[in-house]
Amino acid sequence: MTAHLSKQGRVAVITLDNPPVNGMGLATRRAFMQALDQAQADPGVGAIVISGAGKVFSGGADIKEFGQPQAFTEPNLHSMILAVEQSSKPVVVALHGSCMGGGLELSLGCHYRVAAPACMIGLPEVKLGLLPGAGGTQRLPRALGVEPALNMIVTGEPVASERLAAIPGQRLIDRISSSAEALLAEAVAFAESVAGVRPLPLVRALKAKHPQGDAFFQFARNTAKAMAGPFPAPLACVNAVERATRLRFDDGIAAERASFLDLMWTPESLALRHLFMAERAAGKVADVPADTQLRPIQSVAVIGAGTMGGGIAMNFLSAGLPVVMLETSQAALDKGLATLQKNYEGQVKKGKLKPEVLAQRMALLKTTLSYADIASADLVIEAVFEDMAVKQAVFEQLDAVMKPGAILASNTSTLDLNAIAGFTKRPQDVIGMHFFSPANVMKLLEVVRGARTAPDVLATVMALAKKIKKTAVVSGVCDGFIGNRMIEQYSRQAGFLLDEGCTPAQVDRAVEKFGFAMGPFRMGDLAGNDIGWAIRRRRYVAHPDMKYSKTADLLCEMGRFGQKTGAGWYDYRAGQREALPSEAVLQMLEGHRRNLGLTPRQVSDEEIVQRLVFSLVNEGARLLEEGIASRASDIDMVYLTGYGFPMHRGGPMFYADQFGLGNVLRAMRRFAANPLDDATFWQPAPLLARLAADGKTFN
Ligand code: NAD
Repeated sequence: MTAHLSKQGRVAVITLDNPPVNGMGLATRRAFMQALDQAQADPGVGAIVISGAGKVFSGGADIKEFGQPQAFTEPNLHSMILAVEQSSKPVVVALHGSCMGGGLELSLGCHYRVAAPACMIGLPEVKLGLLPGAGGTQRLPRALGVEPALNMIVTGEPVASERLAAIPGQRLIDRISSSAEALLAEAVAFAESVAGVRPLPLVRALKAKHPQGDAFFQFARNTAKAMAGPFPAPLACVNAVERATRLRFDDGIAAERASFLDLMWTPESLALRHLFMAERAAGKVADVPADTQLRPIQSVAVIGAGTMGGGIAMNFLSAGLPVVMLETSQAALDKGLATLQKNYEGQVKKGKLKPEVLAQRMALLKTTLSYADIASADLVIEAVFEDMAVKQAVFEQLDAVMKPGAILASNTSTLDLNAIAGFTKRPQDVIGMHFFSPANVMKLLEVVRGARTAPDVLATVMALAKKIKKTAVVSGVCDGFIGNRMIEQYSRQAGFLLDEGCTPAQVDRAVEKFGFAMGPFRMGDLAGNDIGWAIRRRRYVAHPDMKYSKTADLLCEMGRFGQKTGAGWYDYRAGQREALPSEAVLQMLEGHRRNLGLTPRQVSDEEIVQRLVFSLVNEGARLLEEGIASRASDIDMVYLTGYGFPMHRGGPMFYADQFGLGNVLRAMRRFAANPLDDATFWQPAPLLARLAADGKTFN
């Protein structure tokens, strides 16, 4: 049973017991109601305490039930709360650890609330694009006061029990227990003291008021709109709380429910819920059991103190792990160290890091020119030049010096990890850790599983990723792994759009309006157009039949590498990042089209977005089919956390699912008819064609 009843004298204790977070799915609700009925019927019971087993009181509703019939099946959360409110015996809830969402809504139906110190209490529904749907928007303002309740509901951020208890006039928390350990005993004693006594009015009977009602809510609406971007939920939260101050309780509840159901089917909420599940799924690897014994990682070495090496080192220093950085010259070490220090100092200046913490972190860092100094590290990450001969020399050295069992990782973006593993006599210990630039900032970590990578090495790196606060996604070995292999198709398509008549600014604007953080050309200018140039030149040799627009090469031949040279697809004023349209680039594009005999045409923003996004989708389908990515949601995570794909669209694969895979195919057929494009580009990946034919989705 996921909720059970016990008795302590005249007090019945109902314990929610549904690990890990006492989620209130249907089975738990049923068990709870049974226990409540039993306590009601027992003449020996004078009062009831509700508590949670384990580390927390309750994480709230079961997210897997959202949008499913079980969520509405009786007893639903509403009827459960109503039953508590109608109890003839006073009900006291005992909160510890954390009390979220539906857990708080249930608590608000109780007659009294006793909380342990430091219990985190919140209504996080807005983070899933929703509002609290079981009375939270109506009861919390009544119990806590309008302003603090609104803050909690609109931000979704939890607040510690003592802080809530200190709010003047609040009726959310009746008692803070002397300690977490004493909570249950003190709640039971409190329940005994109120047994048979006429309880205080229920929260629903209180009034929610704000002295500057209209002005306050107008201000709150403006703030919510400004902060919410494309998401409708924050504004809906403000409106719901306002109704708590204006409508009768039952009318407010009815409106809350209608608003909840509206939000439930918005693409934004669907996308956020997808993201929530995708994040959890990404951490699991099908053939690596959750209880795999991990290798202890207590020290890290980083080879190469360049752009990536320094950022990678920062991740571990920030997590409190000692790091040794190895380079080929003292000058390179000094330069890397200075950059790293400057990055941390920037955080201090912004008030994000205390100076004494900076000192602690720097004290964990050592530098060396000798492999002997890194031999005892538990993990070594190589971030040297992207050149197979250099990688070979480094991995042969590592194989010679590193202690047995050390994990040998490479940050390569394009090279064959299996070949790198082959430079050692311990390929089982070799793995890819593909960080994104700037490595201390970007959330994404592609974990590249080689053909012979040992399961415990993979499990250790996945766990370590969590420790350094990265979102890890497993990728198989292929050129570009998940993210860059897909982005290549996107970049190719962006090039074809220029051939056909678009300007870089038009393409960027369309994509940014769709919600991308940055369009492809502004992105190229930021990253350096010479990087793509070098990659393409290798490709022209390896894949002579693959068609590219020549525009990006022409740009590089003009020396326009991007922001670092003050000119790229756009012009830049010295020291500034604002992208200004460039006459020279427009002339280059016109000349290029003339040479090819192309007549420029107007391309709509819709077509631009579809061609760019569906080129990601088609390649994503190939990655799935080849087993490089193991789930469509993993691909979405890569794009949401590493490539600025708009959060409210849920990632390319999810977006395609919502668009309808049949419609994606129809659009691709239209694009394939375009004579200027690469004729083979829009050949649908077999998986995409199959799913569309079967009326299925990726996710
Ligand atoms: P970088 O040129 O900035 O730094 C490379 C550093 O490695 C230099 O400081 C160099 O002195 C050092 N080095 C070279 N050979 C060495 C050796 N034998 N032993 C020790 N140190 C050596 O390059 P980067 O941009 O930091 O890239 C490093 C790796 O990370 C490459 O494999 C690259 O593909 C990958 N990567 C780069 C990015 C990016 O955006 N820059 C993103 C992801 C992955």
